[in-house]
Amino acid sequence: MNEIRIFCPATIANISCGFDVLGVALDAVGDEMVVRKTSDKGIKITKLTGQDLPLETEKNVAGVAGLALLENSDYKGGFEIEIYKKIKAGSGIGSSAASSTGAVWAMNKLLGEPFSTLELVKFAMEGERLASGVAHADNVAPALFGGFTLVRSYDPLDVIPIPSPDELFATVIHPQIEVKTSDSRSVLKTNITLAQGIKQWGNVGGLVAGLFTSDYDLIGRSLVDHIIEPIRSILIPGFENVKTEAIKSGALGCGISGSGPSIFAFSKGEATAKKVATSMKEVYQNIGIDYDVHVSKINAAGIKEI
Ligand code: ADP
Repeated sequence: MNEIRIFCPATIANISCGFDVLGVALDAVGDEMVVRKTSDKGIKITKLTGQDLPLETEKNVAGVAGLALLENSDYKGGFEIEIYKKIKAGSGIGSSAASSTGAVWAMNKLLGEPFSTLELVKFAMEGERLASGVAHADNVAPALFGGFTLVRSYDPLDVIPIPSPDELFATVIHPQIEVKTSDSRSVLKTNITLAQGIKQWGNVGGLVAGLFTSDYDLIGRSLVDHIIEPIRSILIPGFENVKTEAIKSGALGCGISGSGPSIFAFSKGEATAKKVATSMKEVYQNIGIDYDVHVSKINAAGIKEI
């Protein structure tokens, strides 16, 4: 096989209490990529549609992640990459992660799968380092493993895939406003109290247990963030209303996706997730802010060949 066409899913990171550790892959929104082997060494991005992003290998996360893989491979040739972006950069649903993971996943397939999924996470993290200055794994891990993942530790890197209940759906709304990642970082405090810590890790444990046992009520009770959300949500107009309306429409819980401005909700069943989408849309229609909305089953497989 010399060429592969793939779907690279959008991902939700910072799932409420699981700030910086819990992420999940989506099915209904993602990019497409074509990756092919070439006899020339190195990586060339030959096409990029849908977003205004750099084609230079060192400036594009797909190129940087791909080079990290090549450095660890004895393959003598190179790769060409075409990227068809559907995920808007800076939306908070893992636009850069989709490209970095897609590149390394496809290259690994074309080379006969010499690398483990965990090794691919490490290569893709180099793309995240380019995008945000920090080599974080909370978007790239779910894109590569599929479903929910917990990044338990970075040193050593330890990613725990978590099963998801069959009827769990996500609704994601992206209000078309710009929230600078630097702003959403700078508002965060670096210390928390013991009481805040206790509440937060109680909920993380509850959420993981709920996902393992398909206990939707427990998932809902645990989708709470006492630490980050109260501070970051100030940067997202309409957040409190969106959350209130989503819960009224039957969502199990609702929070900020990544560092925003997208907002996610989880629901039991597609019908409820669609109702939640309608109620979220109405909030932004009333405020007069444009939006994109997605209703998606949890993507248990992650990146796939199409
Ligand atoms: P999101 O908030 O949706 O996760 P990110 O903030 O992670 O998006 O990524 C956006 C940043 O990464 C932008 O600065 C963008 O220029 C840079 N970037 C470089 N290559 C890509 C790519 N192939 N896809 C998306 N973003 C890219």
